[in-house]
Amino acid sequence: MRLSRYFLPVLKETPSDAQIASHRLMLRAGMIKQNAAGIYSWLPLGYRVLRNIERIVHEEQQAAGHIPMLMPTLQPADLWRESGRYDAYGPEMLRIRDRHERDMLYGPTNEEMITDIFRSHVGSYRDLPLTLYHIQWKFRDEVRPRFGVMRGREFFMKDGYNFDLSYEDSMYAYDRHMVSYLRTYERMGLKAIPMRADSGPIGGDDTHEFLVLADTGESEVFYDAAITDLTLGDRQIDFDDRAGLRAICEEWTTPYARTDETHDAALFDQIPEEQRRTSRGIEVGQIFYFGTKYSEPMGATVVGPDGAKVPVHMGSHGIGVSRLVGALIEAHHDDNGIIWPEGVTPFHCGIVNLRQGDGDCDATCEKIDAALKAKGLDPLYDDRDERAGAKFATMDLIGLPWRITVGPRGLKNGVVELTSRKTGESEEMSLKAAVDRVG
Ligand code: ATP
Ligand code: MG
Ligand code: MG
Ligand code: MG
Repeated sequence: MRLSRYFLPVLKETPSDAQIASHRLMLRAGMIKQNAAGIYSWLPLGYRVLRNIERIVHEEQQAAGHIPMLMPTLQPADLWRESGRYDAYGPEMLRIRDRHERDMLYGPTNEEMITDIFRSHVGSYRDLPLTLYHIQWKFRDEVRPRFGVMRGREFFMKDGYNFDLSYEDSMYAYDRHMVSYLRTYERMGLKAIPMRADSGPIGGDDTHEFLVLADTGESEVFYDAAITDLTLGDRQIDFDDRAGLRAICEEWTTPYARTDETHDAALFDQIPEEQRRTSRGIEVGQIFYFGTKYSEPMGATVVGPDGAKVPVHMGSHGIGVSRLVGALIEAHHDDNGIIWPEGVTPFHCGIVNLRQGDGDCDATCEKIDAALKAKGLDPLYDDRDERAGAKFATMDLIGLPWRITVGPRGLKNGVVELTSRKTGESEEMSLKAAVDRVG
């Protein structure tokens, strides 16, 4: 992509109404534009990151055997009357009436709708297990939308729902979700810790939230430092191996890690003092087993092996796809801007032409652009007629992992400069060597 033909409306001024780094940087880097409180347009650069995160979530869900689909954003109120949540949900639900005076709502989540789909088409235990998910916009009329996309009113969420015959099968689905979530966050370059959470008004027994440690997080968290050392790395994961998945979940749920809602001071005090940590965290996902909470009132039953009709066991599992964009920036930035991890970066490499219009410089930049594309990478070529300082500042702000700088002085010696955004280190090398190092 040539920057002169792109739409990257970077801001020179730091927006004064943005309280945290990720919100400020998203506005400054031209990633988002607020249209109304908690409602945002995703400008081209932000949209690329959102799509990258969405793609990783899709890939990891499907690797775990979960099936993608798409439900609408608008839902009929009647479904929510069946579960009893139409009245219970409160003012966070955006209620709408259509021209025929039918009560509708902009979905804050999809338990009712998926349960309705299930009961319409599934009647036998032979069709189980089943886990369906979608990635779709949600709306919650938050009291205090803030921190940009981290607490929006309209936000993008992956929500998955498992249907199983027994508690044991449902816990296998729970484990699949926990492990697939660990993989998902790790691939994005994010450390998200599963913490025992409170099942709250949704009811049920088992739930974990995934939290990214950050001073600006809205949750207070307590954990054993040992948990932050755990990684999946390049472990091969077999999602058909129940015992193997259980072992991974045990590994991640044995060290103490809880949010303030479930914090137990007496248990926490048993951890050696030097290992105890209190911090803030950003909730980037949550998994839930809630049994027959929806299947019973809504009549989502299957005929079991013994011929008796039983309500199915369910769970729901969410990832905050749009919130993750903010959480990633909270975890990866410095004073000059964003530092994207390779897995989610909007472009893999920036190309900075220090003398636009110079035949040699232009030709070299174009060669690098083509060579990176031939490697399957997406470069962003700054071909504007701008000062070097302004070009560097833009590249630092938008945080691409690599920058290749081309100038007449280097070209005389047959070299270009390769700079890592993360370390800030620059090295001169041949065009070919620079292209080889990127990606
Ligand atoms: P929170 O405690 O932050 O209000 P939640 O527990 O109400 O979140 P869930 O119902 O668990 O949210 O939804 C699944 C995920 O969707 C959350 O883990 C979070 O990452 C994301 N999410 C929830 N509310 C918002 C929001 N207002 N803006 C952006 N993302 C959100
Ligand atoms: Mg909430
Ligand atoms: Mg929460
Ligand atoms: Mg939650």
